[in-house]
Amino acid sequence: MIEQSLVLIKPDGVQRGLIGEVIKRFENVGLKIVGMKMQRVDKKFAERHYPKRLIPILGGKTLADWEDLGIKTTKGKEELGKQAWNDLIKFTTEGPILAFVLEGVHAVQIVRKMVGHTSPHKADPGTIRGDYSPISMGYATVRKFGGRNLIHASGTVEEAKAEVKLWFKPGELHTYKTVHETHTR
Ligand code: GDP
Ligand code: MG
Repeated sequence: MIEQSLVLIKPDGVQRGLIGEVIKRFENVGLKIVGMKMQRVDKKFAERHYPKRLIPILGGKTLADWEDLGIKTTKGKEELGKQAWNDLIKFTTEGPILAFVLEGVHAVQIVRKMVGHTSPHKADPGTIRGDYSPISMGYATVRKFGGRNLIHASGTVEEAKAEVKLWFKPGELHTYKTVHETHTR
């Protein structure tokens, strides 16, 4: 049940000076940071992190938002998804990202809960996106900019394994005991 999750503070989060705030939340909850680095990625790398298979998913998220917001469209999931994906890749490469790996019991699920809904207008207060991001994915697609929702977190344990491997070499990950572990055994 001990999992690792890949978390990225995206370029908007770094530019807004939210690194400390975000890390503090994960440390407070007792998740262990086992690797961390700042990196600016190119288009090729961004496309490995956000593969093309995401296109219909992004299109679907835009359509769901637009329905909520009462925006009518004749465009389909693929067309909207392609645009959102292009904007996402551009956004991902626009500045440095802080990448880190968190480890702990049910880390993937706990981190997702703390990050909140993909579209910040639906993210609960108390979540990172809900507390700090004032947009919706539907709005981002209308305005043709990347979905600036501050943070990425692995969606499933499988996704986490692949993403940790993509961003970190084995030697960049560390093993140590936190005080929580030392004091509860
Ligand atoms: P996540 O796992 O909650 O980050 O969401 P996804 O994996 O579905 O999408 C990856 C990223 O694409 C999101 O974090 C957003 O930055 C962006 N994104 C998702 N849906 C949309 C959308 O409808 N429009 C735009 N412009 N960006 C989107
Ligand atoms: Mg995702």
